[in-house]
Amino acid sequence: MKQEELIFRNESLKSTGKMPVLFLGHGSPMNAIEENEFVQGFRKTAQSIEKPTTVLCISAHWETRETCITAMEYPRTIHDFGGFPIELFEVNYPAMGNPVLALEIKDQVQTTEIGMNQNWGFDHGTWSVLKHMYPEADVPVIQLSLDYTKPPAWHYELGKELSELRERGVLIVGSGNMVHNLRRIAWDQLNADEYGYDWAIEASAKMKEFILDRNHKPLINYSSQGKVFQLAIPTPEHYLPLLYTLALCKNNEKIEIFNDKTVAGSLTMTSVKIG
Ligand code: ZN
Repeated sequence: MKQEELIFRNESLKSTGKMPVLFLGHGSPMNAIEENEFVQGFRKTAQSIEKPTTVLCISAHWETRETCITAMEYPRTIHDFGGFPIELFEVNYPAMGNPVLALEIKDQVQTTEIGMNQNWGFDHGTWSVLKHMYPEADVPVIQLSLDYTKPPAWHYELGKELSELRERGVLIVGSGNMVHNLRRIAWDQLNADEYGYDWAIEASAKMKEFILDRNHKPLINYSSQGKVFQLAIPTPEHYLPLLYTLALCKNNEKIEIFNDKTVAGSLTMTSVKIG
């Protein structure tokens, strides 16, 4: 797609309604090439939504010292993992970028200065889920990075600023895992259909309750929520994309939970659709 076409496309984003917002539990990179209930969940969700004009993804796998946005026309597919089968390294997700929209977002956002990035592309937090949602790679995709120097409340406030994009057919996706503790993985349960430690199940239940009650404060202040939250969120990067998603939730919007399973003891695939 040419730049002029993209500009036209961006200007003609007259969506009939507001796009939903998603949080997707992406789990293992293997989900990119496996057929299972989780990828079916991603696919079904995409089919239930009007086709977006662009996807804006906030992935757990892009952390930077500032907030950056991918601004290249042809983003590369990044294989940011090791020790997986060769076929996973051969996956290419050839969706276009949308540099025009990236620049507009940079100009609109007040919370922080956004850096226009030409080096990143799509990390597996993005392509492992979008590959199932839009297999033709016919929707332009941009990524927004996580500034690892900032506290959770700051990320939530930045998320709010993206609200207007929903009126323009942009699908905002937070991609991470609500409960994500790789040090505690139950290696002997990797192939089990469902397996969770008590603390993971308890943390997940509390998170879902807060989400459905639209009670975001304890989710933002997750580090004050006791032991099970500490075990569930040992590092923030897989959890923070959820705060971007929740920040966009308006009062009366429908909230749906799907792919709601705990796997390998210490990971939840739980995903959220708002709107
Ligand atoms: Zn991940």
